[in-house]
Amino acid sequence: MESSEGYGISRAELNPLQGRDLGGLSPEVALHEFSSRVLSEEACRLWILQRLHPAGAFCPNCQTALKRRAELSFWEGKRTYCKFCEKQFSVTTGTILANISMNMREVFLLLVLIAMKVDKKEIARILNIHPDSVKNWEKRLNING
Ligand SMILES: [Zn+2]
Repeated sequence: MESSEGYGISRAELNPLQGRDLGGLSPEVALHEFSSRVLSEEACRLWILQRLHPAGAFCPNCQTALKRRAELSFWEGKRTYCKFCEKQFSVTTGTILANISMNMREVFLLLVLIAMKVDKKEIARILNIHPDSVKNWEKRLNING
C-alpha cells in the first residue's frame, strides 16, 4: 500500500520494466527508461530528510525532540503524532517540501537533473511534470537558472 504521503513504493514499481519491449542495451534506451523509479526510495528519503532536519527529529509545533516510535515514523516519512502537543504532522511539515505532490525519489532526481543543467523540458518529461513546475522548483530552491 502507498503511504498517505506517497513515499511508498507500489508493487508495480518493484519491477518497472516488466512487460515492456525492453529494447537494446544502449545509452538511448537507458535514457528513455531513466526515471525516479530506478532510484532507491529509502536512500533518497534519508538523504533528503537528513538535510531537511540536520538537528534531528523534532515536533514542528512544540519543538519537542521525538523519541522511540515517533522518531522512527518521522525518519520513515510517515505521519507522526506528538504526545506532548497532541498534533499530527509529516516529516515535511513546515519545510520547503511541505505539501508537495512528488515523492522523495522524484525530488532527489529533480535536484540532480537541475545540477546537471538538463533542459527544463527534458526534466519535465522525465519527471512527468509541467515545465513551469521545474521553474517553480528552481525558485523554491533558490536556484537562479
Ligand atoms: Zn509537539
